[in-house]
Amino acid sequence: MAVERTLSIIKPDATARNITGSINALFEDAGLRIVAQRRVRLTREMAEAFYAVHQERSFFGELVDYMISAPVVVQVLEGEDAIAKNREVMGATNPANADEGTVRKEFGLNVQENSVHGSDSPENAAIEIAFFFAGVDIVG
Ligand code: ADP
Ligand code: MG
Repeated sequence: MAVERTLSIIKPDATARNITGSINALFEDAGLRIVAQRRVRLTREMAEAFYAVHQERSFFGELVDYMISAPVVVQVLEGEDAIAKNREVMGATNPANADEGTVRKEFGLNVQENSVHGSDSPENAAIEIAFFFAGVDIVG
């Protein structure tokens, strides 16, 4: 295992319900450090670019509409094995299938409004971190 960084997004359903602190507590309880964080209102262009990998999926349009419906909190999480660790803390994409104690089980509303995004590989983590943050913004 090595110290890694991953890109996390606290999604509009969570900012709208004012539960960003509760979600951050689950990250920190799991040993992930928030080494950069910014609240931002995504533009349609940003959301389409960020989720370009999903542009052929049936839910792409709805996903973009949802991601721009309220502010998000973009953040870099750092820790041992942070990419896989964060995916564990997040839980399954559909909150109905997520394990007890995960963010999506505790706070997710449905398969779309599932409260958090997390990078799924080292390659995507690097791309996604660079999408939102300059090196100088990340303070470990
Ligand atoms: P994950 O966020 O767990 O990596 P995906 O990369 O497959 O999941 O999907 C990206 C996001 O698209 C999900 O987090 C969710 O917000 C949305 N999404 C995924 N599947 C569906 C679906 N069947 N219907 C609506 N939205 C979906
Ligand atoms: Mg994904």
